[in-house]
Amino acid sequence: MKTALVLGAGGFIGNHLVTRLKTDGAWVRGVDLKFPEFSETLADDFVIGDLRQPDFCDRVIDRRFDEIYQLAADMGGAGYIFTGEHDANIMHNSATINLNIADRAHKRNNKRIFYSSSACMYPAYNQEDPANPNCKEHSAYPAAPDSEYGWEKLFSERLFLAYNRNHAMNNRVARYHNIFGPEGTWQGGKEKAPAAVCRKVAEAADNGEIEVWGDGTQTRSFLFIDECIEGTIRLMQSEFEGPVNIGSDEMVSINQLVDTVADIAGKHLHKNHVPGPIGVRGRNSDNNLIAEKLGWRPSQPLVKGLEKTYAWIERQVRKNKS
Ligand code: NAD
Repeated sequence: MKTALVLGAGGFIGNHLVTRLKTDGAWVRGVDLKFPEFSETLADDFVIGDLRQPDFCDRVIDRRFDEIYQLAADMGGAGYIFTGEHDANIMHNSATINLNIADRAHKRNNKRIFYSSSACMYPAYNQEDPANPNCKEHSAYPAAPDSEYGWEKLFSERLFLAYNRNHAMNNRVARYHNIFGPEGTWQGGKEKAPAAVCRKVAEAADNGEIEVWGDGTQTRSFLFIDECIEGTIRLMQSEFEGPVNIGSDEMVSINQLVDTVADIAGKHLHKNHVPGPIGVRGRNSDNNLIAEKLGWRPSQPLVKGLEKTYAWIERQVRKNKS
């Protein structure tokens, strides 16, 4: 039976990944500071603890696993990453986790770690035109991410690839682009744009108002969780180490995102544009490399994932009110 270790298994993507690995028949150990918030984990073994502590990493990496998925990070949406208030924690916490994991995994003779980097590592200078961002994998250098979160991701993807070169490991690096779906953070300041928009639309009265950060012409693409998990598993099983984008290439403006969610909800809403952290002007996944290397690329239309996500968030909003 395949054995897998999922670090960050109490988080949004980690919990979905555990479910998929269990469905595929693996034995799974999950590790996180917390249990998943919205559903019971299916992991065979789940250990609560802090991966910044080397001793704790020794305890959970107590054998050779067939696969290790390293998703644990100090993480959030624009309201967390781009305000500058959390920069020291983001860099210290995530880099410490990654340094511990690479070292401990190697010393237990583990060979294959999947690392979730982020599109936030791409240079800001290639993302100034909302209609024409460049996020090809090889455009990463000269490096100029627009957040410390992005710099840490860039450092850590290099770290895992250095272990491939110097310690004969087969680590895999993906650059996720805005993953969304049911059971993602939807309130509290760490939520990302699709969840925040779904929540605001669910809370708004028909013909009411919705606050949008910036002028709403900034562009992004959003990938539904099921496709993120599919790409992750495919990369892990492939012979390609990456880095490779795992994202959607259906680019929309934030205004379009709001309109689509309002349509799903059947509401007419007036957009009130307010100042807020918005990040780069444009970003889109370039999927040529993943198509070439894995013979696969995400293809589900954005609206399909938004329908499922809106239905889930609308239920959370109703539960919270009652
Ligand atoms: P998440 O915040 O839901 O999950 C991360 C998990 O890591 C959390 O459950 C958190 O408790 C855990 N964690 C943090 N510090 C820890 C510590 N010291 N010890 C143990 N666990 C700790 O985020 P997510 O959306 O599931 O993201 C998973 C990974 O994918 C992260 O590395 C993130 O940077 C990356 N990523 C996500 C997106 C996205 O759109 N969600 C985009 C790009 C990259």
